[in-house]
Amino acid sequence: MIPPIERIAQTGSTNADLLARLAAGEHVGEGHWLVADRQTAGRGRLGRAWGDGLGNFMGSTVVQLRAGDPLAATLALVAGVALAKTIRALAPAIDFQLKWPNDILADGAKCSGILLERSGDSVVIGIGVNLVSAPDLPDRATASLAEKGAAIDRDRFADALAVAMADALWTWRQEGVESIVRAWLPLGHPVGTPLHVSEQALDGYFDGLAPDGALRLRGADGEVMLVHAGDVELRRP
Ligand code: ATP
Repeated sequence: MIPPIERIAQTGSTNADLLARLAAGEHVGEGHWLVADRQTAGRGRLGRAWGDGLGNFMGSTVVQLRAGDPLAATLALVAGVALAKTIRALAPAIDFQLKWPNDILADGAKCSGILLERSGDSVVIGIGVNLVSAPDLPDRATASLAEKGAAIDRDRFADALAVAMADALWTWRQEGVESIVRAWLPLGHPVGTPLHVSEQALDGYFDGLAPDGALRLRGADGEVMLVHAGDVELRRP
């Protein structure tokens, strides 16, 4: 069954909208999605902007945290797995990788962004995917899935992502983070991939994931540092 998807023509930010509803005491059921055709003030982590484009996917959903759930920050990996599985299912020919914790990169170019924001016991997960167009950015390479050879309809993508997210969330709750880590690894960049963790200004090479989802980053001196998803991903607005 496809979770409920509310589609709107335009808004500032679907994450901001769901956070505002939660702040107003409105009940937003887990698995409810808000998907917009256009976003005029889309945002990424640390107040960075997210560029939209008609035909691209921009949407947010809510996770209601329960007693006994794994650490909320590991939802970053859950979202990454759901997103990567959706792309793999709808566009099996496209060559892409998950960059820890959850960017989709095709030939090193960024095709998606995920933003987790917490409000009390709720986590709002926002996902932007360049299905048809990617902005020209001075500081980084971007790509759309269309230019990589996949024509994916936005509404079909939304339906598939909603199902994949519900599925990954179930795995996270019932089987734990280790199971999500096992799903993540074959979708991710290979061991040895050079990585930069901007927040901590760390450079190193990908050395797999710890069972709790932490990034194992091998420095030039061979030492392995552990970087937790929460260090770089989960922001309280
Ligand atoms: P990274 O970990 O890749 O350095 P990030 O996690 O900080 O990035 P996000 O929050 O996922 O980034 O996304 C915001 C950043 O993505 C912006 O700072 C901008 O560089 C880039 N960006 C903005 N819009 C798009 C887009 N439509 N496609 C690809 N990249 C974009």
